[in-house]
Amino acid sequence: MTPKTLPFTKQQIETIIDRHPTPFHLYDEKAIRENARAFNKAFSWNDGFREFFAVKAAPNPYLMKILKAEGFGADCSSLAELILAEKTGITGESIMFSSNDTPAEEFRLARKLGAIINLDDIGHIRYLEECAGLPDLICFRYNPGPLKKGNVIIGHPEDAKYGFTREQLFEGYRICRDKGVRRFGLHTMVASNELDGDYFVETAQILFELVVQISHALNIRFEFINIGGGIGIPYRPEQNRIDLEAMNHGIRKKYESIIVKNGMAPVKLYTECGRCITGPYGYLVSKVLHIKDTYKQFAGLDACMANLMRPALYGAYHHITVMGKEKAPHNVMYDVTGSLCENNDKFAIDRMLPRLEPGDILVIHDAGAHGYAMGFNYNGKLRSAELLLRKDGSVLPIRRAETVDDYFTTLDFAGLKTFQG
Ligand SMILES: *Cc1c(COP(=O)(O)O)cnc(C)c1O
Repeated sequence: MTPKTLPFTKQQIETIIDRHPTPFHLYDEKAIRENARAFNKAFSWNDGFREFFAVKAAPNPYLMKILKAEGFGADCSSLAELILAEKTGITGESIMFSSNDTPAEEFRLARKLGAIINLDDIGHIRYLEECAGLPDLICFRYNPGPLKKGNVIIGHPEDAKYGFTREQLFEGYRICRDKGVRRFGLHTMVASNELDGDYFVETAQILFELVVQISHALNIRFEFINIGGGIGIPYRPEQNRIDLEAMNHGIRKKYESIIVKNGMAPVKLYTECGRCITGPYGYLVSKVLHIKDTYKQFAGLDACMANLMRPALYGAYHHITVMGKEKAPHNVMYDVTGSLCENNDKFAIDRMLPRLEPGDILVIHDAGAHGYAMGFNYNGKLRSAELLLRKDGSVLPIRRAETVDDYFTTLDFAGLKTFQG
């Protein structure tokens, strides 16, 4: 069980809404920091452990700066994400560049920033060498294929576009070793939103064994092992969060029986989680615009899937709290919708909620990762603002909402006047 709580009262959120119209995403700084500290503590048995926050989950430099202060690096996979890291003051080996199908200019910027480069394909060794030169530290992404079961979001590893096969890893490290690369890392990422801690123990074991085998075969030493992201969060109240202490107990035992026993220690452990770092601490705050009673009851919000796409994309559950009606009987079944001309623009289907009226404030939970970030402009919908609820209870806008002018900036209306249609 994971109780769905809020870091604000109805009165507090009304005061915030007076100054910042809905919809918006609100992030809880205090909870993000506490969670980051607990995360670091759980892995602290490993000397040199580091979490590289997956920027794609919440690409806001204010959030990144908070996480930097807690000791995290940044996991980037595009030009814009690299620039965000740079602007936040995260450079050098505090950046993990885990991209795929990578354009040359991204490799060039990653090299310029001194990022750790994590290659997705054996062919990229040559590509990187030609466009930006080989660094002296290189990491490869492993795809275990049929050796490991995937999960729903990522799918079967052998169908996934990511990573090297096992044979390609041996070949790739050999090529790099022979070209003078001296520092090595190994990475994998085979799960997303996984709530079983044993899954990560098993992933660590696979990587530990591989490191022993590759080190012996090629006479190289591994500096780090990146077990990826994918630690899940309990979106549903009846789910439990991963016990990070217990998971680390399992990983540590494998580390001792495989890495230490084979004389490979010390090897630094890295993670690149996004979801479990900010997900539970971000809320999409919205108001009911219309109630509609046809074959079903619909509650239409002023937010839509442009603000949070997960329910429409994956059928994902996001808990909803109706402010001021928390204790009222949840005896009306609603589809909670947005205004896109797409019938799957629904935050919830057949959800039991208290009776709703226009103006009710609805808070959608667990929107702090892969929430705002997945926003888009289809149907001319605009992305919402992002607010930071600070430790002292004050509110700092950390991104303004888009305006229609933002939406039109890539169009040339002056040119249209003289354009002969
Ligand atoms: C998406 C992604 C992550 C973060 O995943 P979460 O599920 O948010 O933890 C980390 N690494 C890579 C390579 C990714 O693509």
